Amino acid sequence: MAFELPPLPYDYAALEPHIDEATMKLHHDKHHQTYVTNLNGAVEKHPDLGKKTPEELLKDLDSVPEDVRTVVRNNGGGHVNHTMFWQIMKPSGGGEPTGNIASQITTDFGSFDDFKKTFNETTAKQFGAGWGWLVWKGGKLTILTTPNQDSPLSQGLYPILGNDVWEHAYYLKYQNKRIDYLAAWWNTVNWEEVNKRFDHAQKS
Ligand code: MN
Repeated sequence: MAFELPPLPYDYAALEPHIDEATMKLHHDKHHQTYVTNLNGAVEKHPDLGKKTPEELLKDLDSVPEDVRTVVRNNGGGHVNHTMFWQIMKPSGGGEPTGNIASQITTDFGSFDDFKKTFNETTAKQFGAGWGWLVWKGGKLTILTTPNQDSPLSQGLYPILGNDVWEHAYYLKYQNKRIDYLAAWWNTVNWEEVNKRFDHAQKS
C-alpha cells in the first residue's frame, strides 16, 4: 500500500471530556482509514501517484489524472487533514497559546479571545461538512473554511491549524450543537505543534 493510516499519537480516551472515546475510535479507525484506503485505490490505477506525498498531490491536483482527480481531492484531503488534526491536539492541551503564534494572534486579531470568537463564528457557518482553518496569507494570519475535505494546500496555503466540523467529528457527544463542540475543542489544542506549523507556514 502506498499510503498508511498513522497511529493515533495518544489513547482514544485521552481527549476526554472534550472529545469522547467513541468518537475518536470511529473517527480515526473508520473515517480516516477509509480516506487512506480510497486514496490507495486511486494509486492502484495510476502507480506514479504513489511516488508523491499526499501533500504534493493536493498542491497540484491539475497534474492528477482526471479519472481519479476527485477521489484524490476528497481522500487525499481526508488523509492529510486528519493526520494534521490528530497532531495538533493532545491530552491536557489547550490554554493560552505560546510562542510566536501567541504574539501573531495578538497582532492580527487583538487577543486570543477575539481570535477564538472569530474562528468559531466563521467555522460554525460552514454549511454542511467541512473544515475551519488558520492559514498564513499575505503576511498575516487568516481564517477560512473549506467544504468537504478540500485542503488549503490546493489554494497554495499551508494550514497552521484546522478544526473538523463534519458531523462525524462531534455528533455522538454534541449532536447538533456544533458551536458547543467548537468552544470545547480549544481545550485540546497542542500549541507546540501549532507553533511548528506556523514556523513552516512562514518559511513556505
Ligand atoms: Mn473527520
